[in-house]
Amino acid sequence: MSLSQKVLVLEDDAGMQSFLATLLSSQGYVAELCGSGQQGLQLLASQDYALLLLDLGLPDLDGLQLLQQLRLWSAIPVIVISARGKEQDKVQALDLGANDYVTKPFSAGELLARMRSALRQNQGSVRQWQFGNVLLDPVQRLVSKNGERVHLTKTEYELLLCLLRHAGVVQTHNQILQQVWGEVYQGRPEYVRVHMAQLRQKLEDNPAVPRYLTTEAGVGYRLCL
Ligand code: CA
Repeated sequence: MSLSQKVLVLEDDAGMQSFLATLLSSQGYVAELCGSGQQGLQLLASQDYALLLLDLGLPDLDGLQLLQQLRLWSAIPVIVISARGKEQDKVQALDLGANDYVTKPFSAGELLARMRSALRQNQGSVRQWQFGNVLLDPVQRLVSKNGERVHLTKTEYELLLCLLRHAGVVQTHNQILQQVWGEVYQGRPEYVRVHMAQLRQKLEDNPAVPRYLTTEAGVGYRLCL
């Protein structure tokens, strides 16, 4: 990863702006600050950024509306910065095409990890996936744990593949349903829950306290590497 990646920070709070500017430049990113949604859209249309950090509470334009407009013409990775307890906003932002979110107050380490995962998403095809001692070979459609073959149903396999394709990045229930079950299953998170429980039984060392196939409360699931 290049160390001079330009990041646009769309955030109107001065304290948060300076925290993010200091943090990003300490990591070698070039941070550009903007407190207005309209100006932000113009910047995004006219310049190249590697990633957008988007505060949902902007003074002139709702962050969700901005995201909706942006996704009509840009695939730039977007991490949403949301206020605590607004689960519905997070889910909506993710369903509108945000790559991930952090909730205020968040730690520097958490944000940087989310940024790295989001930046990794656009990296072409992979021959083999691994987490812990689990291996998935997408060509052979084989999954093994500790070197032993694990038999997954078609749905379990598709679910695992969906999470692996977005490793480190949260997927909402509806995003998963759409990719694994198809459009008509929107709004049926119980489908995901049942199959996720089976996947954990087969792949996690301690299915009751999953280390890799983790739950994002009220939002969806994330495969943690
Ligand atoms: Ca704000």
